[in-house]
Amino acid sequence: MTRRVIDELRKMKLDITLMHVCGTHQDTLIRFGLDDEFRDVGVDIRQGPGCPVCVTPPSEIEEVLALARSGVTVAAFGDLMKVPGERESLNDAKAEGADVRIVFGVDDAVELSRRMKNDVVFVAIGFETTAPTTAMALLSNPPENFYVLSLHRTVPPALKAIASMGEMKLHGMIQPGHVSTIIGTGPYEFLSRKKKMPQVVAGFEPLDLLMAVYMLARQISEGRADVENEYVRVVKPEGNQAALRAMGDAFEATDAPWRGFPTIQDSGLSIRSRLEGHDASRRFSEVIAPVLEREYVEPEGCRCGEILRGIITSDECPLFGTKCTPQTPIGPCMVSREGNCYISHRYRRGGKRT
Ligand code: SF4
Repeated sequence: MTRRVIDELRKMKLDITLMHVCGTHQDTLIRFGLDDEFRDVGVDIRQGPGCPVCVTPPSEIEEVLALARSGVTVAAFGDLMKVPGERESLNDAKAEGADVRIVFGVDDAVELSRRMKNDVVFVAIGFETTAPTTAMALLSNPPENFYVLSLHRTVPPALKAIASMGEMKLHGMIQPGHVSTIIGTGPYEFLSRKKKMPQVVAGFEPLDLLMAVYMLARQISEGRADVENEYVRVVKPEGNQAALRAMGDAFEATDAPWRGFPTIQDSGLSIRSRLEGHDASRRFSEVIAPVLEREYVEPEGCRCGEILRGIITSDECPLFGTKCTPQTPIGPCMVSREGNCYISHRYRRGGKRT
């Protein structure tokens, strides 16, 4: 089957660039060597801003560090621990005595706050896949000492930014299956309508990606720009209404900075004022406000921002695999399991693509 699809793509004599926005898609592409197979038939696939930890900008990493140093208990996903801040990482702060706990989800953080007297701040990172669970925790009358620092982002505004910035010629987009499980297919339609962007929602198996690329190639060769759904076994056009309701009840859209991007309109999720008793950004504003008064720069030499915009691949960063490795990460793209540099380093064992 794989060979047949690749042969069909070869017959189309393609020369196209596609983008996906998903760490799991990137993992499948590189782990199974599909990126090389696709490139061989004229299909270049770039990972866009599809890694929640990677797109979290330096200023927000500093917010988390400031909270950790202030004496609250910070509950964060493991991927965040090694992300380098301006001076140190959360791991370093923990070694210096800050109370930083690794959690696997918001429920762990709620449970932690039940067991502790100290204030617990859950660092809520992720797209529409994880935002509903944070929303549910906020709406379920959590303990008084439970707070959320909402660093959630939503995908469609970032897609709009990518398509509008016009830094690279994109012929189509592969949309993320798990985000689409929540939001459905409707939120992508504006891109097809207004930007004439062919799109396919795809699952995460190698065959899903093969079919998604084939479907996009068909759209492109037929001059269509539709939203098609390859992942029909999971994604419904209307998405998950209960999850969307919870998100709407707990959050409101806000403009948010993304690493590598200018501020993207309506791409963040701030906690609604009626839940402000659990909003870390309000409760600990005296800790956070001074952090936000300053500008922060990317780590020297790190090109994560360009990778997140799809302009370059990790191989093109001179620090990749030399100064920057998973053991000595310089930027978040080498820390997160969904990061482009981490994935390339893992499956190519640090070697560059030939
Ligand atoms: Fe940044 Fe390291 Fe990736 Fe280069 S290899 S872009 S320094 S994370």
